[in-house]
Amino acid sequence: MERAYDKDAFKQLISEEEIKDKVKELGEQISQDYQGQEVIAVGVLKGSFVFAADLLRQLSIPNEIDFLAVSSYGASTKSSGIIRILKDLDTSIENKHVLIVEDIVDTGLTLNYLLETLSTRKPASLKICTLLDKPDRREVDLTPDYIGFQIPDLFVVGYGLDYAEYYRDWPAIYVLPEEDE
Ligand code: 5GP
Ligand code: MG
Ligand code: MG
Repeated sequence: MERAYDKDAFKQLISEEEIKDKVKELGEQISQDYQGQEVIAVGVLKGSFVFAADLLRQLSIPNEIDFLAVSSYGASTKSSGIIRILKDLDTSIENKHVLIVEDIVDTGLTLNYLLETLSTRKPASLKICTLLDKPDRREVDLTPDYIGFQIPDLFVVGYGLDYAEYYRDWPAIYVLPEEDE
């Protein structure tokens, strides 16, 4: 690979400790808000798999998890705006409290599409929890119900987030270095 798999070349934006604290806080908030109910977490593959695994373990309400996969940017850092479901849910969400779990909301096009699609399946409720939010880049009017961190318009990797499928395993969030640096 061209890019070194070397953390020293990357600027750390959010530490492992900060993520851990925030995920705990989100889990407590969600558990409080859904008290007396069950929730089905819907992880959006692949980026959310690390966050979803950690978040679920901070919930104190009964929960299920399912995943779906949507077409992504590929190896590019720009959204095409064209969204497609590559892998659908295994289970019905009818009459269930659905919490979509995302790694990051950027233009909002992916979640906008998912909200539209999933709401036709008659869930009891439909909310969004995202670890990261880049509000500056929004192209549609969409506000996640739960947000871990708002970040500036930077392309980030780690904690599930990739560049060309690399760096998902890094436990903190890093800024991808500019190509020409
Ligand atoms: P949106 O449809 O909101 O523009 O984009 C959502 C998806 O784009 C995210 O779920 C993520 O997969 C990808 N994405 C957006 N910004 C970033 C980023 O800074 N880093 C990485 N790795 N992926 C991003
Ligand atoms: Mg995602
Ligand atoms: Mg990606």
